[in-house]
Amino acid sequence: MADQDPAYKAAREKFLGLSLESTRKSYYPQLQMHLEAARDNERQLQLLIDSIPARISYVNAEERYVFVNREYEKVFGLQREQIVGKEVKEILGHDNYVKTERHLKEALRGKQVHFEYSFTDLHGESRWVEATFVPNIGLQGSVNGFYVLAVDLTERKRAEEEREKLQTQLIQAQKIEAIGKLAGGVAHDLNNLLFPILGYSEMMLEDPSLDDVRREAIGAIMQAGFRARDLVRQLLAFSRKQTLEYKPLDLNKAVADFEKLLRRTIREDIEIRILPAPDVPLVMADIGQVEQVLMNLAINAQDAMPDGGCLTIETAPAELDAQYAATHRDVKPGAYVRLAVSDTGCGMDAEISHRLFEPFFSTKGEKGTGLGLATVHGIVKQHGGHIWVYSEVGKGTTFKVYLPLSEKANHEEKNDDKETAALHGTENILLVEDDEQARRLGMAMLERQGYSVLAAADGRIALDLLEKHDGPLHLLLTDVILPGMNGRELAAKIVEKYPELKVLFMSGYTDNVIGHHGVLEKGVNFIQKPFTINALAAKIREVL
Ligand code: ADP
Ligand code: MG
Repeated sequence: MADQDPAYKAAREKFLGLSLESTRKSYYPQLQMHLEAARDNERQLQLLIDSIPARISYVNAEERYVFVNREYEKVFGLQREQIVGKEVKEILGHDNYVKTERHLKEALRGKQVHFEYSFTDLHGESRWVEATFVPNIGLQGSVNGFYVLAVDLTERKRAEEEREKLQTQLIQAQKIEAIGKLAGGVAHDLNNLLFPILGYSEMMLEDPSLDDVRREAIGAIMQAGFRARDLVRQLLAFSRKQTLEYKPLDLNKAVADFEKLLRRTIREDIEIRILPAPDVPLVMADIGQVEQVLMNLAINAQDAMPDGGCLTIETAPAELDAQYAATHRDVKPGAYVRLAVSDTGCGMDAEISHRLFEPFFSTKGEKGTGLGLATVHGIVKQHGGHIWVYSEVGKGTTFKVYLPLSEKANHEEKNDDKETAALHGTENILLVEDDEQARRLGMAMLERQGYSVLAAADGRIALDLLEKHDGPLHLLLTDVILPGMNGRELAAKIVEKYPELKVLFMSGYTDNVIGHHGVLEKGVNFIQKPFTINALAAKIREVL
């Protein structure tokens, strides 16, 4: 060092009239203090800047880093020492640099700039950034460099996108809900109208004196009635007002059984592949509805493959976790079975896939009803399940249906063989139905089967009738929704007097009156209107 040099020491003493030692003694401690304070300031500033969750740096006029904070190190996965002194271009990489170059030059011309851009980070992920460049202008007006403040917007953008997605899902769901309500109401009324149409034609057909011409005419009326009934059931399914019979269901078996029907229905230039996963747990489902879901999805797949292709049906256990639930509307986390129906067809664009569950939305013109997927959606929701679509234009489409597991998961499946035993009986039945036509028809049906029938239009009348009735009562057949007391309340009253009494409810829909969310409680018997004489007779024998 220079102060060790004797020549320097001598010259200094001569010039200042002060020895180096005395200078040290008087000024050094003060200097030391200032230096320490300055270092302390710098440390604190560094600490502060490092703790800011934004990228802060200083770039000089040669576009080299002079200073970077911790956040800066993190995005590029580099140590401070590896960045400082390097050119911006080198650290950012060519592609990222090009995107900021214009702003950088502006800052170096003394202009403060503010902009948003996306760049690729070291993991190759694209990140959105909001950046501000603040030029550092010296006393002479020359630009020495600029400060960079960059805030990461990626998470915020993602959250916004999620929110928008959820929002559209919500609007979609509300739309379907509204149309569903309307359709449910219409279907209910139609059901009541169909009841006498079907019932009376069935009774007339059994008249042996009927000539062939009339027999054929009445047969045609009945066929039309059946078709109308199926249509009403479809409307009810997507308006979720239908009463379902939930049972533990082995989806693998259901799919396997359904395959035969599918082969007969689907065109021959379409290959059908069934891929059941082993050990698929039982789901809680109505088999008829599951089949309807499969059929609707399969027919859509067929329509999407006019030149042939492959239809694949898969089953697999699936876990929907909390994260999935957070990003998908209405999803309860838990265990499900996934039923996936895929095709190698035309696929669809985002616009179609956003609207496809809407009732009456169809791209098939005259040929489409637009009810297929609306029905599927209604059925799946009524089962407490979920449905999602994944599609690529020109490649194909997959519909994924998630059905919740059967809680009991018990494997005993009831044998549902339809007994064709005698459907007649002699028991006493109390029929309660407010619609006069329906009541008269019901009474005629029951008496024809041999039963003794008491009929009443509402609960009050029914209770009055029972006051005067002596002898046993075996069955109460009642509408669910009645003026005054409803069917369920009436049943509870009557059971007090006749503890052995069996109850059979009938309705166009149950709509929470007998069951929660349309699900029947155990031990509650139900028949869906409109029914045929045979269906009623069979159900009554089953109950009794
Ligand atoms: P429809 O079949 O009567 O048109 P859907 O409700 O069944 O009514 O389907 C609605 C629309 O969704 C169809 O018109 C079609 O545009 C589209 N879609 C449904 N399934 C598929 C599929 N597998 N591939 C391509 N598009 C489909
Ligand atoms: Mg369809």
